[in-house]
Amino acid sequence: MPRDRPLCALSISQINICGVSRNRVLPEAQANNVKKIVPRPLSRVNGWSPPLHSFQAISWTTSLVMFVAAFGIFIPFLPRSWKYAAYVVSFVLLMGGLSLFHLIVHLVATTIDPADTNVRLKKDYSEPVPTFDRSKHAHVIQNQYCNLCEVTVSKKAKHCSSCNKCVSGFDHHCKWLNNCVGSRNYRFFFCSVASAAVGVLIVMVILLYVFIQYLVNPDELRTDPLYKEISAENIWLLFLPLWPVPVKTPVVLSIMVVVFLLAIASFVLLGHLLIFHFYLIAKNLSTFDYMMQPRFQRNSHSAEKKELPLRKKGNLSQEKSSNLNWSQCSPRMESQKFLLSALPPKSNTGFIAPAPKTPPQ
Ligand SMILES: [Zn+2]
Ligand SMILES: [Zn+2]
Repeated sequence: MPRDRPLCALSISQINICGVSRNRVLPEAQANNVKKIVPRPLSRVNGWSPPLHSFQAISWTTSLVMFVAAFGIFIPFLPRSWKYAAYVVSFVLLMGGLSLFHLIVHLVATTIDPADTNVRLKKDYSEPVPTFDRSKHAHVIQNQYCNLCEVTVSKKAKHCSSCNKCVSGFDHHCKWLNNCVGSRNYRFFFCSVASAAVGVLIVMVILLYVFIQYLVNPDELRTDPLYKEISAENIWLLFLPLWPVPVKTPVVLSIMVVVFLLAIASFVLLGHLLIFHFYLIAKNLSTFDYMMQPRFQRNSHSAEKKELPLRKKGNLSQEKSSNLNWSQCSPRMESQKFLLSALPPKSNTGFIAPAPKTPPQ
């Protein structure tokens, strides 16, 4: 990313932490009179609006695989004797409740339109979004007016180029949901990540228990009444009790390994994301604020360097210097305050994100 590009002219999709690409920018008018015919895109309403994303398919497929593996294959292996009944019932209830909860919050986080209030109330989603023309406007959002959405937006709104609209309390654009995460759906997004992480952890515990029992005492896994009709010890029944499917030991072990590897990969990703968001909540930061911090610090240092000679001369007023003392403010205020102080005077501009240093997931 060129360092001399103004902060405000960069696209939110550059801080897309849920995906790989971080280089997209808002469409700009060509500087050299070469007119490019680009279809004007529509604003997306939510995570179900086209184009759908491959990450979205991966997340739903993984959830389905985990659900089927847990309830169809491995929970029926748990011993049914009375001494384990309480544990098994607890596991089933916990997993069932958690799965239902995850399904609901995942659906809500994807389906909510996170757009800013005025965008939802005044903007016509069926109308194409104008192309950003830098020769007409210095920034996409100026004085809290978005030149693309053509409405006044709230203070913390940012224009997401993936969704092509302003999102209130912008946090980040999530490719797993295929939707922006903002103030309207952040809680559902967080609950979706937390419930998925806990669910995957329970699946891993069940898998470990089944594997250890298979090595130590396989009979404990064959307590379903249907096993009385099976004499061969290397035959196992999947999808009990409704649709018993007999398979041999290597098939069960292979499924176990595949699901366990998938569970580990999911848990690492979800756990990392969950810890990151716990950190952000504790620090009162959004993902956007966090991603902007390195730039703020860089700009702060360069601004302080520029000011040093002035300070020595005693020309710097107390009021002006306090604008740069952002490290003593709350983190959310820090980023907003410094960025505003770093913008040209009179601009009062709603800025759009620069590229991050490293994606947190
Ligand atoms: Zn906008
Ligand atoms: Zn978005």
